Amino acid sequence: MSWEENVRKVTPYVPGEQPKRKDIIKLNTNECPYPPSKKVREALLAANADELRLYPDPDALELRESLAQAYGVKKEQIFVGVGSDDVLAMAFQTFFNSSKPILFPDITYSFYEVWADLFRIPFQIQPLDENFHIRAQDYRKENGGIIFPNPNAPTGVCEPLSLIEEIVRENPDSVVIVDEAYIDFGGMSALPLTEKYDNLLIVQTFSKSRALAGMRIGFAIGNEKLISYLSDVKFSFNSYTMNRLVLTAGKACVEDQDYFKLCTGKIKVTRERVKESLRKLGFSFPDSYGNFLFVTHKEIPAKELFEALKAEGIYVRYFNRPRTDNYLRITVGTDEEMDTLLEFLKNYRNR
Ligand code: PMP
Repeated sequence: MSWEENVRKVTPYVPGEQPKRKDIIKLNTNECPYPPSKKVREALLAANADELRLYPDPDALELRESLAQAYGVKKEQIFVGVGSDDVLAMAFQTFFNSSKPILFPDITYSFYEVWADLFRIPFQIQPLDENFHIRAQDYRKENGGIIFPNPNAPTGVCEPLSLIEEIVRENPDSVVIVDEAYIDFGGMSALPLTEKYDNLLIVQTFSKSRALAGMRIGFAIGNEKLISYLSDVKFSFNSYTMNRLVLTAGKACVEDQDYFKLCTGKIKVTRERVKESLRKLGFSFPDSYGNFLFVTHKEIPAKELFEALKAEGIYVRYFNRPRTDNYLRITVGTDEEMDTLLEFLKNYRNR
């Protein structure tokens, strides 16, 4: 018998490419095109390296207090992790423990399926309608939990709170996780619904709207009982997920709400302008509420365009999956980056 027979074999999630070259226009992983708040830089420069000999606060109390204040909830309602991927992975392990399948859309964040496989959680995929919207009736069946992003990724489609409330209300025996990675770009957060429903967990991230993808900070908000169960699982896995510098940077970042509003505001303005220009070039796309657009062209195949853009040093994301294999997901960058992209697309179409 070979030792390999007893190896756990999984198909991993494949993150977007992080190119080594610096001259790339990087529109492939939905990062913020602007630097983080100056307060983050100042806090990191003021940090005392000698203190790194000590473990960080396992409860991440100061960061959770800052978040609690920013979102108007109690610190006991906040959980923090190493990016929202870490928070989501913990939440899968904590809340999706039934033998009934968990439900999520067919077109969505592809990590959900990977975690379900990794943690051996049965799942059942629910198709979005032809306009990439969630159909509430698909979530009206026996299940061991529900998860979807709002706005959805990679489509950018945002569901109204009435639909989210319907799903949460109709599933009192399941935890419903709403992954709000992109909520700060124009959608309505389901956060107020956590006061009414104890089975709703909201997950957000510092990686997009707060320009800290490199720091890895994500968080969950829900009622105290949910958060306490989540915390028990985290403490059964790794007490010190958040290091000292991360905690320092995260706190400084949340406390600069003005800069956060400025950045997200700029990205929204750019996004709306780019929508107009792309339409004129013959692209169509669902109306995105994220910091990205999910575009298809009536004449140019997405894969061909993906490769042409890459050769030009413009990186976007292509998902070779059912229903989405003729789409490109393009992150909203700076105005200058988007102008370079638009110019390339105009010339490509007229070549
Ligand atoms: N959820 C969704 C829908 C995402 O697109 C991403 C980004 N890949 C994440 C969660 C994870 O982001 P992070 O771990 O950087 O917080």
